[in-house]
Amino acid sequence: MNYEKKNIFEKIIKKEIKSEIVYQDKKITAFKDINPKAPIHIIIVPNKFIKNMNEITIKHSKIIFHMFYTAVKIAKMKNIDFSGYKLIINCNKDGGQIIPYLHMHLIGGIKLSNFIV
Ligand code: 5GP
Repeated sequence: MNYEKKNIFEKIIKKEIKSEIVYQDKKITAFKDINPKAPIHIIIVPNKFIKNMNEITIKHSKIIFHMFYTAVKIAKMKNIDFSGYKLIINCNKDGGQIIPYLHMHLIGGIKLSNFIV
C-alpha cells in the first residue's frame, strides 16, 4: 500500500464517501467505525494527514491533545464517561494498524476488560 496516497479516512474527512460523522471541527473528525467491536466504537482522526504514532513530534502536541480531549467529550456525549471506555491507537503491523492514517479508537458501552481491538 502506498502510505502517501489519499486513503479511506481522508475521503471520510472530506465527505467524499459516506460515514456517520459524530463530531468535526477544523482540526479533527470523529466517525462511527464501519465494523464496530462494541456498542460504541468511534474513530477519531486529525484532519491533516499523519501516518501513525511514529511520525509524532513536538509540533503535533496540540492536535494529539485535541484528539484525547475530543474523545472524552464524545464519551460524555454518549454517556459512557462513568461506566468507562478504552482509547486505543494501533501502530504498524504488529500493533494491528490496518489503515495507515493516525487514528484513535474510542470503544465502550460494554465491559471490555480483556478486549484487544
Ligand atoms: P486499525 O486496525 O487500522 O487500527 O483500525 C481501522 C478501523 O477503521 C477498523 O476498526 C475498521 O473497521 C475501520 N474502518 C475501515 N474502513 C472504514 C470505512 O470505510 N468507514 C468506517 N467508518 N470505518 C472504517
